[in-house]
Amino acid sequence: MELDNLYQEVILDHYKRPQHKKLSPTYDAQVHHVNPSCGDEIDLNLSIADGVVTNISWDGVGCSISQASVSILSDLLIGKPIAQAYSIFDQFVALMQSKGAIAGDEEVLEDAIALAGVSKYPARIKCALLGWMAFKDASVQAQAKSELE
Ligand code: ZN
Repeated sequence: MELDNLYQEVILDHYKRPQHKKLSPTYDAQVHHVNPSCGDEIDLNLSIADGVVTNISWDGVGCSISQASVSILSDLLIGKPIAQAYSIFDQFVALMQSKGAIAGDEEVLEDAIALAGVSKYPARIKCALLGWMAFKDASVQAQAKSELE
């Protein structure tokens, strides 16, 4: 897989020095997602308060793309209002499904833009999306829980 060198560095940096990789003991929702085609696994704990993503913590094993992507996601989405987090989520998914046709907005996606090249490799898209799907799943559960309280 050939990715732009600068982008490759961003991915490797997140893989070697993952952000927020230690499951927080407190959370509103906890999910476990796997990508069987590659063997990637991610546990993700999410906290939401007053419509804002207050914490994302995770643990996982797998390829550099999957682990770097969830590290990037946690850095990017903590502190964001949930509506904005969903908008970033939608843009990232669109980028991954673009087969290299769209470049993505770096202002919105920040380090996640480094994964743009993955969209040209269909076998790896699930790796890049694993943590994002875990976040979406956890956010739905956390919000359903808060509506019951
Ligand atoms: Zn993978």
